[in-house]
Amino acid sequence: MALVKAYAAQAADKPLTPFSFERPEPGAEDVEIKILYCGVCHSDIHTARNEWGGTVYPVVPGHEIVGKVTRVGVNVTRFKEGDTVGVGCFVDSCMHCSNCNNDLEQYCENGNTQTYNSLTQDKKTITLGGYSSHITVTQHFVLSIADNLPLEKVAPLLCAGITTYSPLRHWGIKAGDKVAVVGLGGLGHMAVKLASSMGSEVTMLSRSKNKEKDATELGAKHFKLTTDKDTMTELANTFDFILDTVSALHDYNEYLGLLKTDGVMIIVGAPPEPTPVSAFPFILGRRSLVGSLVGGIKETQEMLDYCAEHNITSDVEVISIDKINEAYERTISGDVHYRFVIEMATL
Ligand code: NAP
Ligand code: ZN
Repeated sequence: MALVKAYAAQAADKPLTPFSFERPEPGAEDVEIKILYCGVCHSDIHTARNEWGGTVYPVVPGHEIVGKVTRVGVNVTRFKEGDTVGVGCFVDSCMHCSNCNNDLEQYCENGNTQTYNSLTQDKKTITLGGYSSHITVTQHFVLSIADNLPLEKVAPLLCAGITTYSPLRHWGIKAGDKVAVVGLGGLGHMAVKLASSMGSEVTMLSRSKNKEKDATELGAKHFKLTTDKDTMTELANTFDFILDTVSALHDYNEYLGLLKTDGVMIIVGAPPEPTPVSAFPFILGRRSLVGSLVGGIKETQEMLDYCAEHNITSDVEVISIDKINEAYERTISGDVHYRFVIEMATL
């Protein structure tokens, strides 16, 4: 057993505070990683505050992890001590269902093991995540990180990057497609960078006027305020795809009408509350409303390699871990440009 330093929430209405716990010794297939940076995803906040339900306390959030390998088990062939590696949103799955066999471990039919607040495959322990000094992960779920990009800017690719890359690839978004991204936060800014790098014409739909300049610099061709009444009539029947990254309750019906015939609205943002949708935008335009969960391990590696090749990283604000509660408040109020990343040496 190795003692690990961390930050944890002890209850939904309590701030995160210093915490320590023991991680098991690395087994034959395991990679032990010293965490250098961990991104702060809005999912961490939803979970720490039990907004989705089901949080087991104490919870150690964090699933945008970059670090260095410190030890490997005897069967580990792909990694050695000193390698730079990443860990994303899940750390294990059954490895034999049809989804696992098709590189879709995130949709494991027997239940994947997420990086935090999730049962291990033996169903005995709840996982504790990346706001910690070390993590031990079975080798299949460890990603290789190229050394040519700044690691603090790479960490958010492990969730915000893959969550936006995977649907762009799955729905075959290509050069010339008109794509709207809703919400300019962690996921939204990666969506703009990735979609524009693939040649699509990106429109940023935001409620924040002060983000217009940033949206353009990130690669958006157009910027429209969702709080402006004219936006929805002006943009009716415009987009091939809409990628919705909004973290809070909002009305999907308002956006469905912006799709062309056969257009697809992809939900990746996960507001805790449900919202009703009308049949008419679907019927009248043969439109679809779909969702997507992060991406499989093979596709996550493909995304990391794509980003290394195209020099794509996240825009980050590096914080010390004692600033985590402040970072949560600023994220909720939309004041993040565009991902907080914890420097784990400050633990
Ligand atoms: P974030 O950085 O907080 O960004 C969310 C953005 O949504 C904000 O910047 C804001 O953009 C917009 N927004 C927030 N509150 C709003 C409101 N009340 N009304 C309208 N717009 C609002 O969050 P994130 O880390 O990108 O995560 C976004 C969501 O995706 C979260 O729900 C998270 O849990 C979920 N998520 C899903 C997956 C998946 O696999 N599907 C993976 C990771 C995260 P503007 O200021 O531009 O309007
Ligand atoms: Zn995340």
